[in-house]
Amino acid sequence: MKLFTSQCSQCGQVFRRRTRAELLSAMRKHLWKAHRSWMIARIKAGRKEAEAGNPSVQDLVQAIQKGSARAGLAVAKQMTESRYRQVKTVMDAISPLLPLKAALAWEGVEAAHDIYAKIGRK
Ligand SMILES: [Zn+2]
Repeated sequence: MKLFTSQCSQCGQVFRRRTRAELLSAMRKHLWKAHRSWMIARIKAGRKEAEAGNPSVQDLVQAIQKGSARAGLAVAKQMTESRYRQVKTVMDAISPLLPLKAALAWEGVEAAHDIYAKIGRK
């Protein structure tokens, strides 16, 4: 019978399970139990890395304030979807107060974003 095998990258312990799901679950349990601080450090590093490529709400608002939909979209495309949702909440609230040029730029960003979302590519 074929067994799914994996070795812990931290201590070298070998795990064998009958299914991939069981193997992953056993590995996860082991990592949390035996290498808890390493897991936490890894999660923090991953989050930091994701954050580095994720522009802030302010980055996008600044691009829009310059009245450039093109620059705004370039920033929006690098954002995670949840950050974009934050921006949308902010922009929807302040758009009546924006200069026309900036309001139009935001509309352009939104329209392009929705099209990209619809065709499933960023
Ligand atoms: Zn281990």
